[in-house]
Amino acid sequence: MSNGGAALPPLAFAGFAMLRRFLFLVCLFLSTSVWALPPLPAPAATDTCPVCGMFVAKYPEWVATVLYPDGHAHHFDGAKDMFKYLHDLERWAPGHRAEDILTIGVTEYYGVQRIDAREAFYVIGSDTLGPMGHELVPLASEAEAQEFVADHGGVRVVRFDEVDEALLKALDAGEFAR
Ligand SMILES: [Zn+2]
Repeated sequence: MSNGGAALPPLAFAGFAMLRRFLFLVCLFLSTSVWALPPLPAPAATDTCPVCGMFVAKYPEWVATVLYPDGHAHHFDGAKDMFKYLHDLERWAPGHRAEDILTIGVTEYYGVQRIDAREAFYVIGSDTLGPMGHELVPLASEAEAQEFVADHGGVRVVRFDEVDEALLKALDAGEFAR
């Protein structure tokens, strides 16, 4: 038995349109909210920051994590110490190589989720201090960075590759213009 197919094309078209819409939403979701990181281990109660020696698990809103392929990770009590570590691995993690690092995650301010450190927007010079004082406060998007600056002040927004030794030294000294 055949219905002649008369009703099929519009239905199929509607289905296709819905599928397209669905795929669009999926792409939007993937491109904006996830920056899908492989699951990062949480710091154990005994894990200390390699740079400053403080217990990291006490500061869940500041945790930054560097993950190696064999599954072991180093955790930090803020993005600042993570950057110091990345800029001088020989000093802070002898025997580790930058090219072996699998993932770097930082905790973004509003959602308190760890996101890809290379995708984050960092506000410096705000009223928001971390466990180690002046920080690079990670935000998930440029819009959230602007929102944060409006809420908490902030002198500059910088990206991962803009963070250098001079900026870190200046941060420790409470200077934000570099
Ligand atoms: Zn630290």
